Amino acid sequence: MAVTEEKKSVLQTLWTGLKMRCPRCAKGRLFDGFLKLKPECDHCGLSFDAGDTADGPAVAIMFIAGTLVVGGALFVEIAYMPPLWVHVVLWVPLTLLLCVGLLRPLKGLTFALQYFFKAGTIETREDWQEPQ
Ligand SMILES: [Zn+2]
Repeated sequence: MAVTEEKKSVLQTLWTGLKMRCPRCAKGRLFDGFLKLKPECDHCGLSFDAGDTADGPAVAIMFIAGTLVVGGALFVEIAYMPPLWVHVVLWVPLTLLLCVGLLRPLKGLTFALQYFFKAGTIETREDWQEPQ
């Protein structure tokens, strides 16, 4: 299918990635399963095999979840000095929710940014170029 839309801004690309949609058409879904990318976009046919997010989303999640959980635990400890079990009840589920919940959107975001900036091997692939 031919793509006829104009070049997207970086903010549109970021939003498309967070929605876990194809970075070119913003309509096709990225994932086939929890974290496995589809081979290509269902809508525009963009091949997803050139993008490789590697550990990028996990590193971003470590920074986000680490800051929120450690900062929250320090604040609660200093302000209320609760028993240890309160920390376990508060921070273990929050850590799991943040890590699992953010993984797909941040993988979509990283993938969309790779597409937008033509990172790595994508730079030379004609099928990953924006329409002129
Ligand atoms: Zn698409």
